[in-house]
Amino acid sequence: MSSSKIEIIFDTYIVSHFKKKLFYMTTNESKTEKSSLNFIEQIIEKDLKEGKNNKAIHVRFPPEPNGYLHIGHAKSICLNFGLAEAYDGTCNLRFDDTNPSKENIEYVESIKKDIEWLGFKWHEQPKFTSDYFEQLYQYAISMIKAGHAYVCEQSAEEIAEYKGTPTTAGKESTWRNRPIDESLEWFEKMKNGEVEEGKMSLRAKIDMSSPNMHLRDPLMYRIKRASHHRTGNDWNIYPMYDFAHGQSDYIEGITHSICTLEFEVHRPLYDWFLDQIIEEGHIRPRQIEFARLNLSYTVMSKRKLLQLVEEGHVSGWDDPRMPTISGIRRRGYTPKSMRTFAEMIGVAKRDNMIDLGKLEFAVREDLNKIALRRMAVMDPLKVVITNYPENKIEHLPAVNNPEDETAGERMIPFSREIYIEREDFMEDAPKKFFRLSVGREVRLRYAYFITCNEVIKNEQGEIVELRATYDPESKGGKSPDGRKVKGTLHWVSAQENKQAQINIYDRLFNVEDPQKIENGQNFLDNLNPDSLKTITAFVEPSLGESRIGEHFQFERIGYFCPDYDSKPNQLIFNKTVGLKDSWAKLADKD
Ligand code: ATP
Ligand code: MG
Repeated sequence: MSSSKIEIIFDTYIVSHFKKKLFYMTTNESKTEKSSLNFIEQIIEKDLKEGKNNKAIHVRFPPEPNGYLHIGHAKSICLNFGLAEAYDGTCNLRFDDTNPSKENIEYVESIKKDIEWLGFKWHEQPKFTSDYFEQLYQYAISMIKAGHAYVCEQSAEEIAEYKGTPTTAGKESTWRNRPIDESLEWFEKMKNGEVEEGKMSLRAKIDMSSPNMHLRDPLMYRIKRASHHRTGNDWNIYPMYDFAHGQSDYIEGITHSICTLEFEVHRPLYDWFLDQIIEEGHIRPRQIEFARLNLSYTVMSKRKLLQLVEEGHVSGWDDPRMPTISGIRRRGYTPKSMRTFAEMIGVAKRDNMIDLGKLEFAVREDLNKIALRRMAVMDPLKVVITNYPENKIEHLPAVNNPEDETAGERMIPFSREIYIEREDFMEDAPKKFFRLSVGREVRLRYAYFITCNEVIKNEQGEIVELRATYDPESKGGKSPDGRKVKGTLHWVSAQENKQAQINIYDRLFNVEDPQKIENGQNFLDNLNPDSLKTITAFVEPSLGESRIGEHFQFERIGYFCPDYDSKPNQLIFNKTVGLKDSWAKLADKD
């Protein structure tokens, strides 16, 4: 069986399975009656059954505002907000802003916009880890007082050297057993800006010989003389992620703290920090890890995405080739397709690579239902219909969306001269070529049957025009006498049309796993030089009124949307996705 067939069968399976799942979710049945709970849902249902946390489900999505969100984050958003929706719980949006040097307000705003676009609503106001800086500071003081933290004067190099290796124990810092009062005093001086950056840090006193390196007296605070986008210059010390994250979960009453797999080894530390502050009757958050989403032909590290933007390999964070949420939005992907995709791929416990084709499949599924059908010719070849009156223009009705009766009709102009797609004509056509050739008849969609009679060439022998005749009795593209034509072509009037710039995108990288660096290569070495092609096309006049946010299917070509820079007198369309998975077809040929 060919690989594309397998794809299709697989996709069909996924969709029918998925529709079943949706059905379950929209009925009043408990989720338990649904066969396929993922492992996080299983944990949640068990907790609910046992009456844990007073049956509350409170999750959070904790982005660091140091870049734009990408499709991986969208997965995490769909998971967290989706769980809150499914179990009548709540989901906080918490900006994890503990690293002032890389974070800024532009990112905060873009993240909020992206979550809202996906159609989710966070609980109350957005929250910020920086809101808890004072509380975290107080937790740290109580830990010093309890003998669980100390101010260390080792340099970063010494700390690393004393840390040991996964197979050998570390060594205790000479500052580890300094008097509690001394640590308290220095910690306050650190906070007040009286200690130089790098000279001191606050460390948890745990176990320098623990087999888990994260428990070898991890840093809790470092000195940083940086202005914070929210707290300005109030703080000279900033908490480390490990200390801040679990405590913030605790402060917010989070029940299930869902994060990606790389934090699995941090979990004992997450729990240890909680042990230091937990109070009777207070919800204790539980950290659960799932596999991060990796997509083929895509990079999803914020650092790499930033590099693509800063070095000008793309036009910005919202370049339609970027895997950012702002990029796919400009490309014409829909929130619904992202949510469908997240459901389709499920939640995994092991790292894996998802085929980009799956995402495109979900996009096509949604656009097929909602996109308005239009006609556009990308590579025009003029056809003169010699028996059609000159100067006559007819307006013929055309269905806007066969999948949606409420979408109605629009009128398209038909005239003596039209454009068809160059590839829809062939001179010495084989029998199975069901499009236009001399002596053959085809249907022009919504218009008439035409028969080609003559080919006009220039001096170089290139075809520049076709001559044809039409059957006036076949108006609307309907056969007048039961005779059949095999092909139906899209077309645009050569007299009444609009010109449009069309941006056609391909994958940004030409290797399946561009994050994997081999032979000293840089990930940029695998950029696809043909990821953007721009052409000028003729489109039917109604597209002149298209608005940003609308979706179109250019018949027989693919899905398109107006670009943000498109104007009525200077139309620009972005290709969202083709009608079929062209890559699967290619793989089939190999
Ligand atoms: P990056 O590695 O791209 O810089 P990050 O994990 O540092 O991402 P955060 O802002 O900390 O970015 O991520 C916010 C949330 O999104 C975290 O809970 C993180 O686990 C989750 N997340 C990030 N990338 C992915 C991904 N590829 N798949 C699923 N979840 C992800
Ligand atoms: Mg992170």
